[in-house]
Amino acid sequence: MRIVVKVGTSTLAHPTGRLNIQRMERLCKVLSDLKNAGHEIILVSSGAIGMGVGKLSLPSKPSDMPTKQAAAAVGQCELMYIYDKLFTEYNHVVAQILITAPDLQEAGSRKSNFHNTLARLLELGALPVINENDTVSTDEIVIGDNDTLSAAVASTIGADLLVLLSDIDGLYDSDPHKNPAARLIDTVERLDARIYALAGGEGSSLGTGGMVTKLRAARIATEAGCEMVIANGSRPENLYDILDGAHVGTRFLPQEEGK
Ligand code: GLU
Repeated sequence: MRIVVKVGTSTLAHPTGRLNIQRMERLCKVLSDLKNAGHEIILVSSGAIGMGVGKLSLPSKPSDMPTKQAAAAVGQCELMYIYDKLFTEYNHVVAQILITAPDLQEAGSRKSNFHNTLARLLELGALPVINENDTVSTDEIVIGDNDTLSAAVASTIGADLLVLLSDIDGLYDSDPHKNPAARLIDTVERLDARIYALAGGEGSSLGTGGMVTKLRAARIATEAGCEMVIANGSRPENLYDILDGAHVGTRFLPQEEGK
């Protein structure tokens, strides 16, 4: 199976912005194991800005563009250093790919370059780690969130499955922060107005996405024929169950016309 796994900042870092070492170790171990089992894995990792905030000891996530970009430049190094170190332990080779919106535009030569490089990396057995190129992303070219980015990647490369690992268990039938009786939705067969109405606005303090961006990702992925699962990243071992088709998180079924 060709699988895109997206991890949010809240999965990789503590609220301080510093690395969640135990979580990252478990994530890299599971992904290495899945690769050993013959799956093709593409990792879309957030965390550059969050980790830059931690490393530069900034008081909180910056709101101005230059500081965000500076934090991303610092944090992206840290991220790749850790991924390289952890995946090397399990004999896997990582490759960094940083992209912006024009790289994924339909019919552009950048999109085919991106596709060709990604496809070649997979043929070579490498594990691509993708993030937005935050240091050059301005308002005009920004994708803005890695939920959307990971869905665009999954559709470009014809992935079978996209997994969004986040700090929530999945999509609920009402806001679980406000309603203790809120129920997790197991499977979404169709993205209709009723489902879109369930998305609240906010994400975590260091990350970017929320349920709105996750549903946007679900639309892009499922329309391209790719199944998508939202699950809690606090237990990376959930990935085994997700691949077995077990009821973990919320599963969005591919739309017929996709593949
Ligand atoms: N590209 C941003 C980063 O690495 C994250 C975007 C997101 O959280 O969706 O910090």
